[in-house]
Amino acid sequence: MSFSSLNRSPFNARIVRAVKESSPVVYLHSGEHKRVSKGHPWIYSNEVKTDETTKLIEPGTIVRFCTNDGTPLGIGSFNPRTLICGRIFARDGVEKIDREWFRARIKNALNVRGRFFSEPYYRLVHSEADGLPGLVIDRFDRCLSVQLNTAGMQRLWEEIEASLVDLLNPETIILHNDSRVRELEGLNREVTVARGAIDQPIEVHENGLVYFADLIKGQKTGWYYDQRENRALLAKQAEKCRVLDVYCYSGGFGLLLAKAGASEVIGIDASETALTLAKKAAERNGVDGKTIWINGNAFEELERMEKNAEKFDIVIADPPPFVKSRKEFASGARGYRKLARLASGIIKSGGLLFIFSCSYNMGLDDFAREVGRGLHEAGREGRFLRTVFASPDHPVHPQLPESGYLKGILVMLD
Ligand code: SAH
Repeated sequence: MSFSSLNRSPFNARIVRAVKESSPVVYLHSGEHKRVSKGHPWIYSNEVKTDETTKLIEPGTIVRFCTNDGTPLGIGSFNPRTLICGRIFARDGVEKIDREWFRARIKNALNVRGRFFSEPYYRLVHSEADGLPGLVIDRFDRCLSVQLNTAGMQRLWEEIEASLVDLLNPETIILHNDSRVRELEGLNREVTVARGAIDQPIEVHENGLVYFADLIKGQKTGWYYDQRENRALLAKQAEKCRVLDVYCYSGGFGLLLAKAGASEVIGIDASETALTLAKKAAERNGVDGKTIWINGNAFEELERMEKNAEKFDIVIADPPPFVKSRKEFASGARGYRKLARLASGIIKSGGLLFIFSCSYNMGLDDFAREVGRGLHEAGREGRFLRTVFASPDHPVHPQLPESGYLKGILVMLD
């Protein structure tokens, strides 16, 4: 009996009971299924019928979601305590979310990466966009850095781990379970080694360079793979350039530009740990003679450089998210404007600014407007040459624009 033939008529009462025993059914209010029916993967708490039974469902349980009249919508995880209470895993009559199911989804993600990347260093799983809501996995060859961002994925960890072992036989798995969203899901925040041991820092092979990442103390899962192609794009312009890499982390942009022929690269970041790894990678790649790493506050350093009349051919500005929630939209927008103003103030005529926002609460149009205003406030004119997004190992779910958080603009200044 497939799930799609399930309905609530009394003739099927026995079947309904049997299915309920394996996974509970959660019904949506009348008319509230439309977005989900059109492919959106999330269900909000006000859209489901809450009764004594649903309230008792353990956070993260796999349930079957149905419309008010019993038409199946799909199977997915349910957390009665969160605003986004449902996340659809499958719609095609799948009856069980088990190790085999994970194996197939992860294998699919692996095939996609195999088409775009020749080396095993990439984001292997990007949550909803890879059909695995709440699961993020970055791959560093035989070492995996995993984030379980929902109670659903937390409960299913054993199945996920088994399928990863089956597919990739990793030496090491780090659970980088320290994201803020875990708190909303009622989960603790911690970083642990789930399999093997780790010899830190580990190598990251990207664009022909060897970088270093700290998978325990590092930010996010340890490395920002999302910028790989944007780094390569800018590197083509690096020859003989003086470069400033603001918010440089462990040298992702700066080191590649140094290797590609820049005359000097200065990196600024607030994290000493990240800069130590940038220095180590500068030595490893033979560019330590022309790289300088400053541990400081970006805005303060930019103001100081402006006062000292410093000038650069290329400035990269890739800050942490300034708009973490919709409430912060106005102040975050001002932040991007100020960043564009300060950065463009120290760029030579004919020079380039590569400026980014990773705030999913701010779309490209708003970001572009703030960058434009910042240039104008700096008294500069210029043109937007390219708009860029994250690399293809960070796919975007077609119904969930939020999954496309990173946007960047390459600006040439007159
Ligand atoms: N461009 C990097 C990623 C940047 S992530 C890459 O390509 O890998 C954002 C960085 O901003 C982090 O390294 C963080 O340490 C740094 N940061 C956060 N607040 C800062 C501040 N006020 N001043 C300088 N750096 C800051």
